[in-house]
Amino acid sequence: MENQVEEIKKKLDIVEVINRMVPLKKRGRHHVACCPFHQEKTPSFIVSPELQIYKCFGCGKAGDVFSFYQEFNRVDFKDALEDLAKLAGVKLVYRGRLSGEEAKRKNLYELNREVARFYHYILVKHSLGNEALKYLEDRGIKRETIKKFVLGFAPRDSRVTLQYLTKKGFKPETLWESGTFGKSQYGNKNYDRFAGRIIFPQIDFRDRVVAFAGRILPSNTNKEMAKYINSPETAVYHKSQMFFGLNLAKEAIKKEKTVLVVEGELDMISPFQAGIENVVAIKGTALTEEQLQLIKRYTDSLILGLDSDFAGNKAMIRSIELADKMDFDLKVLDLEGKYKDPDEAVNKDLDFFKQQLKKAKTIWDFILESSLKNYGIDSPRGKKLILSTVLPFLVKISNRVIQSDYLKKTAQTINSDLDSVVAEFEKYESNQQVNLEIIKKQETRKQKPETREEKLEERLMEIILRLRKPGKIAKNIDWQTIRFKKISEELVKMKKFSGSKLASKLAPELRESFNDLYLRAQEDQSSAEERKKEREKIIKQLEEIKLKARLLELSGIIAHLEASKKVRKIAKIEAEYAQTLKRLAELQRA
Ligand SMILES: [Zn+2]
Repeated sequence: MENQVEEIKKKLDIVEVINRMVPLKKRGRHHVACCPFHQEKTPSFIVSPELQIYKCFGCGKAGDVFSFYQEFNRVDFKDALEDLAKLAGVKLVYRGRLSGEEAKRKNLYELNREVARFYHYILVKHSLGNEALKYLEDRGIKRETIKKFVLGFAPRDSRVTLQYLTKKGFKPETLWESGTFGKSQYGNKNYDRFAGRIIFPQIDFRDRVVAFAGRILPSNTNKEMAKYINSPETAVYHKSQMFFGLNLAKEAIKKEKTVLVVEGELDMISPFQAGIENVVAIKGTALTEEQLQLIKRYTDSLILGLDSDFAGNKAMIRSIELADKMDFDLKVLDLEGKYKDPDEAVNKDLDFFKQQLKKAKTIWDFILESSLKNYGIDSPRGKKLILSTVLPFLVKISNRVIQSDYLKKTAQTINSDLDSVVAEFEKYESNQQVNLEIIKKQETRKQKPETREEKLEERLMEIILRLRKPGKIAKNIDWQTIRFKKISEELVKMKKFSGSKLASKLAPELRESFNDLYLRAQEDQSSAEERKKEREKIIKQLEEIKLKARLLELSGIIAHLEASKKVRKIAKIEAEYAQTLKRLAELQRA
């Protein structure tokens, strides 16, 4: 396996691969872009063809073609390996047991695809699907849309589907594992959980069918049947990572730089069909961290088009907090109580829908306004209720400026003075933050502070790495920081300098540090002349630091010797002290 990874790496150029996902611009020896992993306006994401790595100087994300592919597409190593092998034209050879879990998942994807195809065929081509097709058309869903979303109908008689799949060679175990089919307790018969339902295949952003959702036909009056059912979690389906429609919406999301998040399949399909293509659906009202990370690849602006009382939902508060921390710009689509959901709004008044989308309010405004509507400010109780709704959100705002703006707004809204609102806020916050403070303290303690000397040496190394023969300068410097000392040793040993060769000689923990330096060196926009001046200045500053440290040391020794009356020794030390002082004065004069 390791050899295959190397083989794939050799055949692929990291610049070409990343360029497919994030358009890169050439700049000097590197290719750059605005970082796909954090929000920025000027590019600090750098790809080096020479080292075959990427590095973001904004958020610190760095790695090779594999880690980029994994991170960007949110896939695990095995998936990245498969995809990149395909891209490189390398045939993967699986050895031994490795394939167990993998084979299972592969089977499930294949089965799901086949099931989706079959249901779709029944819906659009077979008389068994007539009623379902008519229902969808009555709801305004066009043929073209049905095809795009591979909508389907599961025949009422499970045997029809099961016979087809058995003929295709799928084994009963795979059928059960897919969650689509079950085994009845009596008579040991297999059945289709979705039988008699209109089918919405759940297709992930990599175009794989991972699960199904099914709706009963309107003619079905059996009260015991749920209107909608979903596949259970399986080896290939994780609700918390899934966005319905993302496979079709991702281009539009990138283009529009924002995404509308709605709750059900039809609420996603209707706007999409009406030309508002930057829309995805989730199950339930909460966004998970995985979903937020996934959508972050495409945009950092979210418009929530969810059930209007979502704000009272604890899971949603957590989602909003997460999104805010991840620097999402959060807005809320307000249908002003006129329509119950986006599907209805789009079908009844598309212009209104578009207009409300444009007018989407910031989440904080929305929460304040909706709690005002719910509780009113006529009674102290109403004001209290508003505060108790709003404060949990306000304490979660990570930006202090925005937070204080909203505190003011809240005070105005409930006709109260700012001081008492702030007091309530602080009371609430202090209860929340006791634990947080402890964690924060522990975190800061872990990072050891960089000394001025270390910083200067780092910059010096950066400058030196731009030289054709860095070893020549590096060897004359008395490096104090271990990592620069080690890098310098390698530099000195090298006859002909090459960044990639040096990187390969360093221990892994040093390599990262070197790669950083080397990339930054190449990115340095100053002229060679300027760099030379800076280099000389830093060398001087470093010597100054060293001399001053020595003076301090010597004066300590002198004091000690004086105390113990060792006069002869003092003379010698004092001589060195004077020498050092003289040297320092010279240096400072120059
Ligand atoms: Zn970044």
